[in-house]
Amino acid sequence: MHFNILTIFPDMFPGTLSGGVVGRALDKGIWSYDAINIRDFALNSYGSVDDEQFGGGAGMVMRPDVLGCAIDSVKNRGKVIYFSPRGPRLNQQMVREFAATPDATYTLLCGRYEGIDQRIIDEYDIIELSIGDYILSGGEIAAQVFIDSCVRLMDNVLGGGNDTTKNESFEIGGLEWPLYTRPSAWRGRNVPEVLLSGHHGNIERWRKQQSDEITKQRRPDLIKEK
Ligand code: SAH
Repeated sequence: MHFNILTIFPDMFPGTLSGGVVGRALDKGIWSYDAINIRDFALNSYGSVDDEQFGGGAGMVMRPDVLGCAIDSVKNRGKVIYFSPRGPRLNQQMVREFAATPDATYTLLCGRYEGIDQRIIDEYDIIELSIGDYILSGGEIAAQVFIDSCVRLMDNVLGGGNDTTKNESFEIGGLEWPLYTRPSAWRGRNVPEVLLSGHHGNIERWRKQQSDEITKQRRPDLIKEK
């Protein structure tokens, strides 16, 4: 998988993506990226990429002429994604779909200021994606969320293989059950007996029941109507 990242802060990459399983996958060449500095396409010597909003109002907008040149410089673009609070909220099912093509290329546009000129979205048939109902100061963190969530689903990235990703929250039709590890007793708190029993059937039933309970309490919206 390859990501072309358009940003005014290319040094923010790989950022958090250099650590852990995703960082190792980067070293192994399972995924790669180019961080392209939008400022390199500025039309004046100050390197301006933004300008005042037509119609007035506070905050600057990223210019379509500059962004257009930056996007055009990417030869193999694949799908072009703009991170924006206005997009549909990214979820695990959408991530699965983006990650389903291991040799896909995605071009990720990281906004700054108030955002980008609408004509860029129209001109390049852009997919808008939000990572949640709050406002970030830029799309770079959103791009890292997108890349991390896609890459960890690719083959040979997670140690436990497919089982690891299939047993997680959202993949199991709800939220994960409580997790425990050694020591079995800690500050007077004991690990539930059933998990120490070695009885796989009972363990599975307990986990399912816990998962259902937690999902019902915290995220009833995840419970599919039958
Ligand atoms: N004026 C915009 C917010 C701009 S925030 C609005 O009201 O909708 C600046 C940039 O940060 C955006 O262009 C976008 O690329 C990024 N960003 C902010 N919040 C985001 C979110 N929830 N999801 C994805 N990207 C976000």
